[in-house]
Amino acid sequence: MAVHTGRFLRINLATGEIGVETVPEQVAADFIGGRGYGIKYLYQELAPDTDPLGEHNKLILLNGALAGTSAQSVSRWMVCTRSPLTGAFARAVGGGDFGAWLKFAGYDFIIVEGKAEKPVYIHLTREGCQIHDAAELWGKNTEETQEWLTGRHGRSTRTACIGPAAERLVKYAVIISGRRTASRCGVGTVMGSKNLKAIAITAHRNLELHDPETFGQLVKEQVEAYRNNKGCQHHREWGTTDTQDTTNDLGIFPVRNFRYGRQIDYEKLLGKEYRKLRTGEFGCYSCLLRCGKAHRVTAGPFAGAYSEGPEYETLWAFSGSIESSNIEATIAADQLCDDLGLDTISTGGCIAFAYELREKGILTKADVDGLELTYGNYEPVLELIKKIASRQGIGDILAEGSMRAAAKIGQGAEAYAMHVKGLELPAYEPRGAKSQGFNYVTANIGANHCYGYAGQEVFGAIVPRPVDRFAEEENADIVIHNQDTTARNEVGIACGFSGGWGWMPDIFGRMLVAARGLDQFADEDYLLRAGERIFNLERVFNVREGFNRQQDTLPQRMLSEPLITRGAPGDGQMVRNQDKFLDRYYQLRGWTKEGIPSSERLNELGLGDVLSDIDKNRQK
Ligand code: SF4
Repeated sequence: MAVHTGRFLRINLATGEIGVETVPEQVAADFIGGRGYGIKYLYQELAPDTDPLGEHNKLILLNGALAGTSAQSVSRWMVCTRSPLTGAFARAVGGGDFGAWLKFAGYDFIIVEGKAEKPVYIHLTREGCQIHDAAELWGKNTEETQEWLTGRHGRSTRTACIGPAAERLVKYAVIISGRRTASRCGVGTVMGSKNLKAIAITAHRNLELHDPETFGQLVKEQVEAYRNNKGCQHHREWGTTDTQDTTNDLGIFPVRNFRYGRQIDYEKLLGKEYRKLRTGEFGCYSCLLRCGKAHRVTAGPFAGAYSEGPEYETLWAFSGSIESSNIEATIAADQLCDDLGLDTISTGGCIAFAYELREKGILTKADVDGLELTYGNYEPVLELIKKIASRQGIGDILAEGSMRAAAKIGQGAEAYAMHVKGLELPAYEPRGAKSQGFNYVTANIGANHCYGYAGQEVFGAIVPRPVDRFAEEENADIVIHNQDTTARNEVGIACGFSGGWGWMPDIFGRMLVAARGLDQFADEDYLLRAGERIFNLERVFNVREGFNRQQDTLPQRMLSEPLITRGAPGDGQMVRNQDKFLDRYYQLRGWTKEGIPSSERLNELGLGDVLSDIDKNRQK
């Protein structure tokens, strides 16, 4: 089987029809794979205003252009759909083996459509694909589900599944494989709405490359680059379990629902404290970094809690967000979210929101089911997570996400909902890392750190140039650079962590040529243009759904309250020039003042065929 199979599977759960289709050559050349195929097919197949949780929404699961090969850090998988949390384009990325397994089964992606009448799961092999009854699996947690399917279909099976939270349509439910989640935007919720519990793939490695000898040389070059890079070695040792050491020092570790930029007792959260509880490490298919670090609690009220994490975002979501310094409680919360199938960032964000509403008196003690939601108190967190996943009591409101919960609660609650386009903010304070914040503003999926990570501001990266992290419109070019290079890398679903040390675009391009035999992939400009094309088509998807400049905004807190960093740099920072930033960003992108891609820009990117879809949204 060639590494670019050029094939995808279409599965209709309503009719039971299963078909194999081919990616046209021009689409393969223009969109390359992974996220490129995700937006291309979602855009072309989804009618505007499709209900995200209705039977007509589609769920696309993809691997990358080099998945399943020995190239490093490229076998991750991705889900694209219309988000029930934001109503915008959704893309979520997961790790582990599932992406490679999908390739081994013979496909670049799967499109799931329709809704099954009753719970089902899909079993896919090289020989065929079947839809099975999942009555026995419905209600099981994600670990039990995967164990059950491995027991049924054998050890060469890898599964992507949902947990109870997605079954109950919690708006930020995940899809999980192993203990790695495609976690943002409620992609698991869409899967739950289709009554699809799991996709299990039984397969074996079997890929053929166009030029295996050259490909092997390039992998050696990549591995050498990894090994010679200090940052890479650090990541291998720590994963992201010590990122909070840096963000607290910079004053960008969000504390108490984004009120402060540093936690007072953050020494209790340092990476070395997590190191004491570490029990093992694990990684994704074909990645020598093995950056996943597992932790087990051995004593105290959380004894026995085990998680293959938490990584930085999660360890923040259950500490800084409510100013808890109990790392054992955080490990237990991570485990529970994985079992129930919840996005830890949105879960932590919604919990922090509830704490602040309680503090401000907008929610009463009775409103929160008698729980003691006071900052520093980690005790109610596990109970809140269970309530969210089961939609009980206050959990039913929080299960809608902070934007909808605020609208339901009223009384000014929106001022405390930390989201962009409905997606809860991740663990970097926008006022102290403004390109990161403006990436949240303009990312097509809402507030996501991985959509255009500003490594220049957090880790001092100097590519494409050094950056003043407090500058605003002056860094519009940096935000665009980070977003377009991310989109380019995600045609291969290259891991975001690999970008700094070995995942160089020229190696990527040459690998694509060696794997697929298409010479144009060796041209770095060609690849970057593909990234820009993808980003623009996603924006057009959103414009078609009614999004424009109005939704490109940080929460009011970042625009009106000075940041308090408690001794770290950046005290008093605010985002003062969001409008100027947007003007500059849109101009550089070739968009109108309303944030709509111009006809000229779309034509230049070879996207002229979508013009008529958005003409009605274009400002006269
Ligand atoms: S760096 Fe970590 S998350 Fe990324 S592919 Fe490697 S093991 Fe997976």
